[in-house]
Amino acid sequence: MKYTGITYRPPFEAGSLLLQVTSGCSHNKCSFCYMYKDVPFSVEPIEQVKKDLAEAREYYPDTRRVFLENGDPFSLSARRLIEIGQAIHEYLPKVENISMYASIRNIKGKSDEELAQLRELGFNQFNIGVESGLDEALKLMNKGYNAKEAFYELSRLRNAGIDYAANVILGSAGPKLLRENAIATARLINETTPYLVFTTTLHAEPVSPIYEDMKSGKFIESTIGEYIEEEEILLKNLDLSDTLFFGLHPSNILRLYGRLPDDKNALLREIKAQKIRLEDKLDSRPIRRSEGSIFKID
Ligand code: SF4
Repeated sequence: MKYTGITYRPPFEAGSLLLQVTSGCSHNKCSFCYMYKDVPFSVEPIEQVKKDLAEAREYYPDTRRVFLENGDPFSLSARRLIEIGQAIHEYLPKVENISMYASIRNIKGKSDEELAQLRELGFNQFNIGVESGLDEALKLMNKGYNAKEAFYELSRLRNAGIDYAANVILGSAGPKLLRENAIATARLINETTPYLVFTTTLHAEPVSPIYEDMKSGKFIESTIGEYIEEEEILLKNLDLSDTLFFGLHPSNILRLYGRLPDDKNALLREIKAQKIRLEDKLDSRPIRRSEGSIFKID
């Protein structure tokens, strides 16, 4: 199988076949992102994709789930994605689900009919870096869309029957707007009903544009207490009928995992207990290591 550079996938795609159809990210401009800084965006020729599928058929003929790589394969045209979907079913007939990282920006370029066609081919459960439902935060992160566009495009996706996991970045509006950020993000999530909410906290590596702003004080990182408060407000405002709350990314201050709405009260009780446990650390900032993982809460 061919892979270019580091290959990322969400934790819940650990059992999926990773199939490279693009390299890098066609946007590559989010202010916090460092993932594909050294990898120019390119499209894998269909011949190479088929070669990889033939190899996968030899070793994993019973594959049921495929995750397309890399940063935003949904930037490919619907025509190319349909071609890839058909090839996947030809080589691996047991595949039930084809997933990938996708962006609000690249839902835009697909018609309702094309989205429905993709769903028919098993495209489902996309992983979307929604990050926030607040315009100020989306602008700061340079996501390339606003909250209204996010709502519109996610609604089109959902109407086509395509489910999605919402990635959310706590602290992305800074501490002053943490309440507004949490409430606006909860509203967007409630209206577009993802099957999973995946929380992380804002972190920056030296190559990401927001790193300098953090260093110079132009952008203030939330404290441990502020991150917890934002997550608590987000959770309180989530009103969902069946969604997994996945707060296990290593950049999170708290480890939270449960199904909403059943586990909501238990999760809120856990947050309350942790606030008491961390009382003397709430005003400090976490010490991190690579990929924002919390090294130490001082
Ligand atoms: S966060 Fe996603 S869309 Fe933004 S630059 Fe990174 S890979 Fe691309």
